[in-house]
Amino acid sequence: MELLDETIVPEHAHDVKQEAREFAEEHIAPNAEEYFRKGEYPHDILEAGQEAGLVAQDISEDLGGRGLSLTEVLAIAEEFYRADAGIALTLQLASFGAEIVEEYGNEEQHEEYLRPVAEGDQITGLAVSEPETGSDLAGMQTRAEKDGDEYVLNGEKYWIGNGVEGDWLTVYARTGDDEENRYGNHSMFIVPTDAEGYEAEHIPEKMGFRASKQAHIVFDDCRIPEENLVGAEGAGFWMLAEFFNHGRVVVSGHGLGLAAAAIEEAWEFAEGREQFGRSISDFQAVQHGLADMRLEFESARALAWRAAEKVEQGEDPGLWAAMAKTKTTEVATDCAEQGMQFHGGRSVLTDRRIARVYRDVRIPVIYEGANEIQRNLIYRQS
Ligand SMILES: Cc1cc2nc3c(=O)[nH]c(=O)nc-3n(C[C@H](O)[C@H](O)[C@H](O)COP(=O)(O)OP(=O)(O)OC[C@H]3O[C@@H](n4cnc5c(N)ncnc54)[C@H](O)[C@@H]3O)c2cc1C
Repeated sequence: MELLDETIVPEHAHDVKQEAREFAEEHIAPNAEEYFRKGEYPHDILEAGQEAGLVAQDISEDLGGRGLSLTEVLAIAEEFYRADAGIALTLQLASFGAEIVEEYGNEEQHEEYLRPVAEGDQITGLAVSEPETGSDLAGMQTRAEKDGDEYVLNGEKYWIGNGVEGDWLTVYARTGDDEENRYGNHSMFIVPTDAEGYEAEHIPEKMGFRASKQAHIVFDDCRIPEENLVGAEGAGFWMLAEFFNHGRVVVSGHGLGLAAAAIEEAWEFAEGREQFGRSISDFQAVQHGLADMRLEFESARALAWRAAEKVEQGEDPGLWAAMAKTKTTEVATDCAEQGMQFHGGRSVLTDRRIARVYRDVRIPVIYEGANEIQRNLIYRQS
């Protein structure tokens, strides 16, 4: 059974999908259990991914990347997440938010910040969420005040991938307080992580995605030059909204990869496990459970690839990205739940792949906007 079959993937993404599969088989899958258990940042696998040209390569060729399209990044996501979600997130987060700098930043910013990420010399991240605010993007409180030819940042960010490991971050901060125009109060800034007044530490241990690391960042009079403003002041919310239209399609690949892993594990276990003198896959109840997993997976995957096409063509991107993200990540949770049940008692052994997937699937239903927020978007934009 080939779940991540390439026929649904546009032809131009076949080669990179194959590269991602081979990389995942060689570098991610064999190390997944160990990294999950130790909860360590996989520096060596990240480096191998950079060398293989599979990390941060959405950045354009002019800037040293491969200019991979959204569908190519989605193809990579499915393959990487099937092998391990935590390692996959670390690999894919190395350029998280860089798209915003590429789209709205100027040439100097491209050369100074994007090129080293594309060339594998630096990694970056996107800092939006805060300890007290997550879903309400227009409610974020970290503030950037103009002072002469500098901006001074004060506030906190939470959950930030590469907040400790990264060289610089794209930071979403408040530059206005217009109650009448909630969506015009934020801006985007490039913040080097060695700037004075920037402090970051890892958040507490997570139950899933353990090979990825997130940070709690404190900005205490953190000064950055005014040239680090990305695009126009006050346009940050809209930059983020557009960025998430792409990001959520990629997250649908997270859901699909995880669902594929759960199905593979459930299928293999059910066929190998005997009870009452026969394989448990001979019981019709088990067969129907496996059939439902396959059905839901194929529906979600068809939606995700349709959404990728719609978003690339700019047709109702917010709607399609939200539908793909919601459906795929929830199918992953359902498949993991069913996969656990078919594993019986062995499901709770922590070194089992199904137990790892079961813990990982809790996360993509939350990040890049909790699925309730996606449903708000789906309703409003339908
Ligand atoms: C592993 C991981 C990695 C992450 N990486 C990053 C990162 O790199 N950068 C970054 O900026 N952020 C990151 N995040 C943060 C993530 O985007 C937020 O957790 C997410 O947006 C939800 O915010 P919250 O956790 O504050 O939940 P809250 O906003 O407090 O919401 C809690 C719950 O309330 C409900 N809810 C909230 N609002 C509504 C509504 N309007 N309608 C209906 N229900 C609602 C939902 O059930 C929601 O799950 C990461 C999170 C995780 C878990």
